[in-house]
Amino acid sequence: MNDATHHGSSTDTLGHPRGLVTLFFTEMWERMSYYGMRALLVLFMTANLQDGGLAITVASATAIYGLYTGAVYFMGLPGGWIADRLLGGQRAVWYGGIIIMIGHIVLAIPSDQTFFIGLVIVVLGTGLLKPNIGAMVGGLYASNDERRDSGFAIYYMGINIGSVLGNIVCGYLAVNQGWHWAFGAAAIGMGVGLIQYRLTSYKLEGVSALPADPLSAKSRQTSWFVIGAALVAIAAVTGLALSGQLIINPQVVAEYTAFIITGVFLLYFGYIYFLGKLNSTEKKSMLALLLICFASAFFWSGFEQAGSSMNLFARDYTDRMIGSFEVPTAWFQSLNSFFIILLSPFFAALWISLGRSVWDPSSGFKCAVGLLIMGSGFVAMFFAAEVAARGLTVAPYWLILTYFLHTVGELCLSPIALSAVTKLSPRRFAGQLMGVFVLTYSIGNVIAGVMAGSYDPEAIETIPALYKQISMISIGAALLFIAISLKTKPWEKLAANENKDEESQATSQAT
Ligand code: GLN
Repeated sequence: MNDATHHGSSTDTLGHPRGLVTLFFTEMWERMSYYGMRALLVLFMTANLQDGGLAITVASATAIYGLYTGAVYFMGLPGGWIADRLLGGQRAVWYGGIIIMIGHIVLAIPSDQTFFIGLVIVVLGTGLLKPNIGAMVGGLYASNDERRDSGFAIYYMGINIGSVLGNIVCGYLAVNQGWHWAFGAAAIGMGVGLIQYRLTSYKLEGVSALPADPLSAKSRQTSWFVIGAALVAIAAVTGLALSGQLIINPQVVAEYTAFIITGVFLLYFGYIYFLGKLNSTEKKSMLALLLICFASAFFWSGFEQAGSSMNLFARDYTDRMIGSFEVPTAWFQSLNSFFIILLSPFFAALWISLGRSVWDPSSGFKCAVGLLIMGSGFVAMFFAAEVAARGLTVAPYWLILTYFLHTVGELCLSPIALSAVTKLSPRRFAGQLMGVFVLTYSIGNVIAGVMAGSYDPEAIETIPALYKQISMISIGAALLFIAISLKTKPWEKLAANENKDEESQATSQAT
């Protein structure tokens, strides 16, 4: 993930490098396809056969959902590496997008067998696209460019506009035309994104056009061979599972996977920390980053109930009638993105004014507060579930309130964390650490899937306990992280100063 060298040129759009427009729309369409399909995933898997669904149990469906969303982000690790060392970010995003579109086309084929094949293809494509497009946004700015945070805030808006579009279009089509029409719409969305990317990629002006740290010709050959072998292995496992020769219990796999991904995260992080020849300032900034990673993993473990248990709660226990119109269940998924779009400008202003204040909270503190607010959203869900447990239909305001609190939490954590990763990472590990950070999404998604498995629609009285547990864990962890963030705050500052020094040294050497 190339560090770009053109900052603040005359070709800026609205005060930002014009490549941001290209990346904004590409990611918007990619997220339209991702969230449009994701909103339907659990609903489709748990729907009866006569409703065109797969009639899978809630526990298995939420585990598959967790594994799928976890795998999407896990593949960001090899995806980031492939861009850094083999393809360059620009080509990784292009091929990733093509693979994603093929995945959605396969999902649009109305057959149970192709469903899982489609999911595997989308996972592979997203792994290639997602971390690299984020790192390319970072690559548009010099490390001391103060437009970086605001660039990420704009990019985050793009993500969420795409998400609203996907939820609305795919949610509507699923109810009125059928599941596979909705999956097809996701393919079209990705297709539009690809055309847009192709036509405007000149605006990227060479950012990540080439691999940042290319391998020698011989190592390239070996790497492609290993990648080919890994793909054959994935195809073989998928084939064996589909033909019934390999019995996979998604719940058990999901539980193990959560441990394995956490292990990979700690090992990779530890490898860079202990063996990366870091100086003491870099080590301190890595520790500040570790706190942010922990907060992120806890955050998504709770937040990601959205597409699973909260989605089912919207379907089964929530009053969705407006007059005679029944609001499609998936539309509730768009509340999060809707609030993001609404609240982003407010938060952008808040961070700027806090940044100028004497207090100036650290990134770690903001992330921990985000976790706290997300946890409080589950307190609302707990009360809503109590009402449902009494056999009543719950007013939609409860879910709306929860999504509101979750979104406020997300705005304190997610864009702040993304920007912090690009700031706190030692420069030579920037790309890899973005991949490592994306693993926290993966951990969160898998754990969320496992926890959602205890949502039993036949035993509504157990649901309040699920939400109570999530809120207590999140709030407890948040309080601990807030305390630790007081310690890591000066370490964040050290990193910022060091980067500034490096940057000015580089500039003075260059001139
Ligand atoms: N909404 C953000 C995105 O799509 C974060 C997703 C996540 O699960 N961490 O990029």
